[in-house]
Amino acid sequence: MKCEICGKREGKGNSVSHSQVKTKRLFRPNLQKSMVLYKGEWQKMNICSKCRRAHARGDESKSPEHTR
Ligand SMILES: [Zn+2]
Repeated sequence: MKCEICGKREGKGNSVSHSQVKTKRLFRPNLQKSMVLYKGEWQKMNICSKCRRAHARGDESKSPEHTR
């Protein structure tokens, strides 16, 4: 899974217990399904929370889910 706007993907690392035993884990981007105006069309896309916030700041008033 990756963000469809910025292409952010999972990162790998270790989770480390108190006894310093290391097991592999994934760091996933905070992906949300969201309606976004992308390339001139409203689409439901898997985007990360940072892209979602950036988008909401840009044209929140134009969003069909937030018509005021
Ligand atoms: Zn993103």
